[in-house]
Amino acid sequence: MDTHILSKEKDPMGAAIADYHAQGKAGKLRVFSSQFDEDEIPVRQLFRKSPHMPRIERTALHMASGRILDVGAGSGCHSLALQEAGKEVCALDISPLSVEIMKQRGVKEVRLINLFDPTLTGPFDTILLLMNGSGIVGKLSNLPAFFRKMKQLLAPGGSVLMDSSDLRYLYEEEDGSFVVDLADDYYGEVDFRMQYKDIRGETFDWLYIDFQTLELYATENGFRAEVVCEGNHYDYLARLTLSE
Ligand code: SAH
Repeated sequence: MDTHILSKEKDPMGAAIADYHAQGKAGKLRVFSSQFDEDEIPVRQLFRKSPHMPRIERTALHMASGRILDVGAGSGCHSLALQEAGKEVCALDISPLSVEIMKQRGVKEVRLINLFDPTLTGPFDTILLLMNGSGIVGKLSNLPAFFRKMKQLLAPGGSVLMDSSDLRYLYEEEDGSFVVDLADDYYGEVDFRMQYKDIRGETFDWLYIDFQTLELYATENGFRAEVVCEGNHYDYLARLTLSE
């Protein structure tokens, strides 16, 4: 697995987070993809507080217990909410600018490290991957490595809480039928590239996964998957636990 971290020169989301933290506002965080039209991430949303978080995220925060790992923590919004609730959390991210801002915002334990870095060790009772957290897995073919990593990091009895979306709605006909070419790659495998001001990031893979497919891979890799709650647009929170 790829274990890179970003360089400050190619960290558009981190730069947007740093601007918003310093000035209370930021420019456009632009998102490009070969599958979709150009889009934008409202930077303010990356600083959301619990009452403004989607139900899926509030549920995950409520369920998180013991020693918690916040994977791809961004501005630290979830880590800060957990700390406020008196919980013990370690935040990690590959964005050097985001990591710097998390420290400034008061996240007590922050690491600039890739989830797949072999030097990252546990144990953690809860591993959180939020805001389409399955994205970090990148491709379906990376799922076995992802589950191996989760197995290494989880404490006995621990769980992974991860949200994702089923992108089938993009391919649904008006009559509700679902048309995908099975010879194509899995429809939830997408690529993104971000840009903030003149800072351009590299293209990266991002995985959206429907629950059935996630469950299939989980079972094959020694995990049990369950839907904890559903959002209002094909999104859901999954809980993954070791099946032995
Ligand atoms: N969880 C935050 C941020 C989501 S954006 C929130 O809900 O607001 C996804 C984050 O994951 C980005 O900050 C990105 O830098 C980080 N990331 C992407 N790949 C990663 C990896 N392999 N290991 C750790 N962090 C990663």
